[in-house]
Amino acid sequence: MDMINASKISYAYERMDEEGNAVERVAALRGVDMQVQPGEFIAVLGANGSGKSTFARQLNALIAPTEGTLYIDGMDTAKEENVPNVRRTTGMVFQNPDNQIIASVVEEDVGFGPENLGLECSKIWERVEESLKAVNMYAYRKAAPGKLSGGQKQRVAIAGIVAMRPKCIVLDEPTAMLDPKGRREVIRTCRALNEVEGVTIILITHYMEEAIYADRIYCMDKGQVRLCGTPKEIFSRPEELAAMQLDVPQATKLGYELKKAGVPVPEGILTAEELVEALCCFH
Ligand code: ADP
Ligand code: MG
Repeated sequence: MDMINASKISYAYERMDEEGNAVERVAALRGVDMQVQPGEFIAVLGANGSGKSTFARQLNALIAPTEGTLYIDGMDTAKEENVPNVRRTTGMVFQNPDNQIIASVVEEDVGFGPENLGLECSKIWERVEESLKAVNMYAYRKAAPGKLSGGQKQRVAIAGIVAMRPKCIVLDEPTAMLDPKGRREVIRTCRALNEVEGVTIILITHYMEEAIYADRIYCMDKGQVRLCGTPKEIFSRPEELAAMQLDVPQATKLGYELKKAGVPVPEGILTAEELVEALCCFH
């Protein structure tokens, strides 16, 4: 069964005036299709306002499609009775870790989710331990979240979600507020959860470099999916990406420039290592 099956979903926000009357409809999603298999790592790219966060909210049944259908692990998110199970299936991680961490000790914060699931005490601590280990933050279990770096806080927030054992984790620009080191830590964590634990990952990001490890990339523009494919396929189309105000990874850009200058490097180079390899073969 598909983990995610979105079929032509549209969504419009209603803008209200001071009296609460709807004065305008803002179309945020316009016929989005997405099929994701269990265990896939998907990156979603798109300029500001392209509808990424609106789509993420759909995946967690915070909002339901205005048109079209969305099934999460076989559950129609538009059906009220499915909402609790949909929310247990897809965990959400947001941009700002400070808004997601509530307790004053790391391990207590991670324990909130499993506690709310009604698990018994010993099971809660088991989950806290395994989740903190999964994000490589077990050594900080007694720390005060306020004392941690941005990347560490975000990993604690991710552990809090992992502790509820969702099949799928949706991360909406989880690295936007982090420094390069914090970004690397969080991305490494996402990859480990995917590869080791088999969790389906939907990573929404502004950083092209973070998308190169995805199985597939979806590019959104003005509420629609414009491109979908493997990182190699997507990043071999720099002009189309530029039209959506999207870039390509640095190594890809360099490879592309070299090719234009007559050096025969293959298309869709993603990392510095691949570029070096291509150039060595050529000599
Ligand atoms: P992204 O996450 O890609 O930046 P969003 O999903 O946040 O895009 O926004 C898509 C569109 O929906 C934008 O035009 C935005 O202004 C509009 N929008 C987002 N949230 C709301 C809201 N709560 N009320 C009204 N319009 C909204
Ligand atoms: Mg957003």
